[in-house]
Amino acid sequence: MIKYSMVDLRGQYKKIKPEVDAAISEVLDSTAFINGPAVKTFQKNLEEYLGVKHVIPCGNGTDALQVALMALELQPGDEVITTSFTFIATAEVIALLKLTPVLVDVDPDTFNIDPKAIEHAITPKTKVIIPVHLFGQCADMHTIKDIAKKHNLYVVEDTAQAIGAEYTCYNSGNMKKAGTLGDIGCTSFFPSKNLGCYGDGGAICTNNDDLAAQMRSVVNHGMKVRYYHDFVGINSRLDSIQAAVLNIKLNHLDEYNRARKKAAACYNEAFANHPKIKTPVTASFSNHVFHQYTLVLKDIDREGLMKHLAGKGIASAIYYPVPLHLQKAYLDPRYKEGDFPVTEALSKSVISLPIHTELTEEIQKGITEAVLEFVGKG
Ligand SMILES: *Cc1c(COP(=O)(O)O)cnc(C)c1O
Repeated sequence: MIKYSMVDLRGQYKKIKPEVDAAISEVLDSTAFINGPAVKTFQKNLEEYLGVKHVIPCGNGTDALQVALMALELQPGDEVITTSFTFIATAEVIALLKLTPVLVDVDPDTFNIDPKAIEHAITPKTKVIIPVHLFGQCADMHTIKDIAKKHNLYVVEDTAQAIGAEYTCYNSGNMKKAGTLGDIGCTSFFPSKNLGCYGDGGAICTNNDDLAAQMRSVVNHGMKVRYYHDFVGINSRLDSIQAAVLNIKLNHLDEYNRARKKAAACYNEAFANHPKIKTPVTASFSNHVFHQYTLVLKDIDREGLMKHLAGKGIASAIYYPVPLHLQKAYLDPRYKEGDFPVTEALSKSVISLPIHTELTEEIQKGITEAVLEFVGKG
């Protein structure tokens, strides 16, 4: 039986139960389940937290990405560059909209999209770059934005795993929040994300007034004036109960991210300088909010390690076991095994350990000892 799971949503809920229950009750009493006041309040609160002009709440993180791409009025066959090492949602929305996903490899240290590889992948059909701030730290946005500017491309950030992470701007030294660096930022409030609600939820943000207006109507059936539909949109809403939960949890987000960083530091110390374990590398331009704590294993039987941990009641996971270009649904004659060597090597050698806001040093000691018992002290 797994005693130490990847997340501990119950432990976290218990600490904020009175606040959350009251907020949910208020929505129940109001019966304003859709577009209630909690949604507007959350929109304002998140705009303030992120330091961004517009937040558009929506149904989930996948919708957020789809809405962003729909607002850019692309043509079928237009190319969207993204990373080969991410959750499927990033590529899925590109394919759904009959756009062409163009994949590039990642940096072996940060696991984020490799800007040098982006330059090589640009063609006259390229319209958008989607960097994913994987596992909780920002991609190299300075270089990515330079490339985008040079080639007149949009940058849509997938910040589902990095809400609250801060990026240090290259020239000014100013800190900006992940998701507010490109043209549009897309995030998810899936329960296990760093800011998770108690169901599905997502949001899109932008500093661009025109894009914001467009995305507000995309999520609302392509409607600006009620029952007048100017283009084909979708229905994607954050419901009031989820917004009420998020209003409470947003107040705790910085504290939650600090707890994750502290847990990561504790793991880092236990595995420091181990010849067979590479601990996470944080880039100089971003801080890391550790949505995942991911090790790269060298010459270690990964399956065996996972079984060993499971035997001791400790969960572990592989994010992600199959690179996008090798997923059955996304097989494409343009790509073959060997094309993205860094991603392919990572998919065979990474392992993620439990990381969440409720870890104690004692639990972590048990986890690190169990890992070291299997791999040896080095
Ligand atoms: C979770 C996630 C999404 C999708 O979010 P949902 O709310 O589950 O739709 C998209 N991209 C990345 C990188 C994610 O981790």
